[in-house]
Amino acid sequence: MEKQNVPEMFGALVFDEKVMRARLSSKVYASLKKTIDENVRLDDDVAESVAEEMKNWAIENGATHFTHWFQPLTGVTAEKHDSFITPSPDGGVLMEFSGKELIKGEPDASSFPSGGLRATFEARGYTAWDPTSFAFIKDHTLCIPTAFCSYSGEALDKKTPLLRSMQAIDRQSKRILKLFGNDNVKYVKTSVGPEQEYFLVDKEVYNKRPDLKYTGRTLFGAMPPKGQEMDDHYFGVIKPRVNEFMEDLNNELWKLGILAKTEHNEVAPAQHELAPIYSTTNIATDSNQLTMEIMKKVANRHNMVCLLHEKPFAGVNGSGKHNNWSLTTDSGVNLLSPGKTPYENAQFLLFLSAVIQAVDDYQDLLRLSVATAGNDHRLGANEAPPAIISIFLGEELTKILDAIKNDTPYEETEKVIMKLGVHSIPGFSRDTTDRNRTSPFAFTGNKFEFRSLGSSNSIACCNIMLNAAVAESLRQYADELEKADDFEKSLHELIKSVITKHERILFDGNGYGDEWIEEATKVRGLLNLKTTADAMPHLLDKKNMDMLMSHKVFNESELKSRCEIMLENYVKTVNIEGLTMVDMVRKNYLPAIERYLFRLAQTTKLMREVSSNVKCNYEVSTMERLSELTDDILTSVVKLEETLGMLKQSSDIFTSSEYVRDEILPAMDNLRKYVDEAEMLTSQRDWPFPSYGQILFSVN
Ligand code: ADP
Ligand code: MG
Repeated sequence: MEKQNVPEMFGALVFDEKVMRARLSSKVYASLKKTIDENVRLDDDVAESVAEEMKNWAIENGATHFTHWFQPLTGVTAEKHDSFITPSPDGGVLMEFSGKELIKGEPDASSFPSGGLRATFEARGYTAWDPTSFAFIKDHTLCIPTAFCSYSGEALDKKTPLLRSMQAIDRQSKRILKLFGNDNVKYVKTSVGPEQEYFLVDKEVYNKRPDLKYTGRTLFGAMPPKGQEMDDHYFGVIKPRVNEFMEDLNNELWKLGILAKTEHNEVAPAQHELAPIYSTTNIATDSNQLTMEIMKKVANRHNMVCLLHEKPFAGVNGSGKHNNWSLTTDSGVNLLSPGKTPYENAQFLLFLSAVIQAVDDYQDLLRLSVATAGNDHRLGANEAPPAIISIFLGEELTKILDAIKNDTPYEETEKVIMKLGVHSIPGFSRDTTDRNRTSPFAFTGNKFEFRSLGSSNSIACCNIMLNAAVAESLRQYADELEKADDFEKSLHELIKSVITKHERILFDGNGYGDEWIEEATKVRGLLNLKTTADAMPHLLDKKNMDMLMSHKVFNESELKSRCEIMLENYVKTVNIEGLTMVDMVRKNYLPAIERYLFRLAQTTKLMREVSSNVKCNYEVSTMERLSELTDDILTSVVKLEETLGMLKQSSDIFTSSEYVRDEILPAMDNLRKYVDEAEMLTSQRDWPFPSYGQILFSVN
């Protein structure tokens, strides 16, 4: 591969601040910058100038089309391309793009899920430019990040509520900062660095597996002789073919201004990870959506397929995504970073308390923000964090909080009892060496890492909930502290009471153990929402709706529609999986086993004709067991067919999702069990699909 000039390549296809500064007049630039940083409305004539320069820049960089790029509730991004051409008087064409076209688009979007939000007469909805996320060029098309709303202003996408949640946390954080004398903070933004896991498999092998093609995961497959038990893949040497893919991927991402940073092999064979450097949450969200799209595209160029499903293979680890989250002021102060002065420390502890309370109060919202049919296979499966949400703080911070809670000295040697705002926290090292990988929500020195996300989840969902929930804790604190007579005393009391009240959410032990489930649910009263069907309905709990509505993150109809869409998605996903299983069993597995049985029977018969002494033990015992298994497979596939058939009779989406959980998924598991056993007894020549071993070790 030729030598790359990374700094030159980086952001080459992005209309970023560097390009803006170079190409826009200083007045237009200043006005746009204010919109980007402080959410100020953009003037029409400014939009006009920006559109003109954006178009010129895009054409110079090879673009012929533009699109409003948005994130409907399908979970993937959507785009509809329009060319810049417009007829000119001389019969030719001009390349045009107006401020109006930049600001607003009207995709024919009636087929996107809306959960009943749009009546058909206004089915179009519109897209609105999000100037806080940079436009970029992809496939000769200028992509303009946009929000997607109905004409009555309801959000039909994931970006709108994310931006609203960022405003909510900004508002409340500033109130708190003021109380600590930080009057001139212009804004507080949340930042995220999402670590992305994925699998790479060979395209040829992939194409032979209908289950991978239709559902993104294998629905059948006996365990190969080798899985991940040797731990030889994790951080192992990267294979040349994968390395070429990673180089190509990095180049593509860098051109798009995505800060691709770390790459390594993961635990399972064929599993890898990519982590970018963190950025502002809405940009990180856009970047992560793009990263997933480009991973698939680049893999395809290398004759591989990138699997982003949470659980492509049973028996080896699934893929997740770690959402590293923090809060930063416009001057770059990380509010989750322990400070140096007593005051900074007190402020840090208050923000820390806000997160602790938020995670405890809204465990259900965090859990449901990562709930999908795919991710249900991971959470609680002893490889990913459990479905129970808890926080890991590490030894040091736990000790400090204990000292505050009990009014005891923090260290033996220290005689004084620490008073917040008066005494500094002694010897607090940032680097928490004790890394508890089993915790769903871990403090890692100056940020929190939410680890329950599935690899295909949009990070928008969990950040909406996290931002809103923390904004709510901060609101309560600001309400109380703003009217306090003695600020320091009230602050101390407040932090003490938060720690006492929400202690149950703190857990540093092994989150994979059965004892934890027992303790968490029975002793501590934490929620254990195992499936999407269990978790999602909590979106409509009064306490959750009240909170999300009071911070103007969602309105009532948006919440109802979202709950419905997410559950529909769950039901449809599992339904497709069930139908795929039926198809594979009837058309391929049963006929294949029958072919093999025929050969065994024929062989036995022939052998016995030749000699009356042969026992044919292998043939006969295999035949007997396989014949039993075909009966079991038949019974189970008929049962699955019936179960799937009855899905339509459910009266509402809540009943359907429970039916999926209680009837369809168990019927699928049951069918798989028999087919996988039959695989172990059938000759590979007759088996109709590539085995787990062939798929997992297909990339060399
Ligand atoms: P690991 O979790 O493997 O130890 P790091 O802690 O270095 O790795 O970083 C993991 C991710 O967290 C990276 O994407 C990194 O950019 C991001 N990150 C680091 N600091 C912050 C922060 N203050 N806010 C949000 N994300 C951060
Ligand atoms: Mg990490």
